[in-house]
Amino acid sequence: MIATKQKELKVLLKYLSGEKNIIIVGCGLCATTFQTGGEKQVQELKDKLGKKGYIILMTAVIDAVCDQRQVRLFINKNKKKIEQADSLIVMACGAGVQSFGEFVKIKLHPALDTVFLANEKRLGSFQQFCSLCGDCQLESTDGVCVITRCPKGFINGPCGGSKNGKCEALVENDCVWNLIFKSNEKNFSKKHKSYLPPKKKSPHPQKIEWRK
Ligand code: SF4
Ligand code: SF4
Repeated sequence: MIATKQKELKVLLKYLSGEKNIIIVGCGLCATTFQTGGEKQVQELKDKLGKKGYIILMTAVIDAVCDQRQVRLFINKNKKKIEQADSLIVMACGAGVQSFGEFVKIKLHPALDTVFLANEKRLGSFQQFCSLCGDCQLESTDGVCVITRCPKGFINGPCGGSKNGKCEALVENDCVWNLIFKSNEKNFSKKHKSYLPPKKKSPHPQKIEWRK
């Protein structure tokens, strides 16, 4: 799922400068899971903007804002309200915000920052395992993405700093090369001769914890 974080209220207020009548739409999938754009967060933003004098014409949470069929349905159902609005705040990922672009003429404001493609390890604990490089190399790295998960971006073997199987740079994480080695000890050298360096450089793996 897509990890997001909320923009600060002062940033949103800047976006809304000169506007009065607002619609707020959240997302029932990823943004709800991340507690950044679900029912509760939409209501919270409505209250905050109401206190600042904005008129909130309507709020809604669409099941999946990245599904443009659902967005079109929502827009068709609420045409009149949308025509009265100065802008629409979208509490979803960047893809979700753009779902509206083709169908509405009013200003769209993103309320969230889209940060990474996340795996949920346990409730409320998310990690980045894939950075969508478009040239997947998991076949030659035993299913562990070195592009994303090695913070130094070592794609051809370990950096040498690992201690007790842990990463030198991110000590709470396992060294990815140790994971790969352990998963296929016997065939390691033979197998990794075929490894193709990826086209993209590694970003640092990212993590979000809203519940420990
Ligand atoms: S190599 Fe890594 S970043 Fe690229 S698609 Fe595969 S898992 Fe994602
Ligand atoms: S210890 Fe392993 S995961 Fe950490 S930076 Fe070095 S090679 Fe990469």
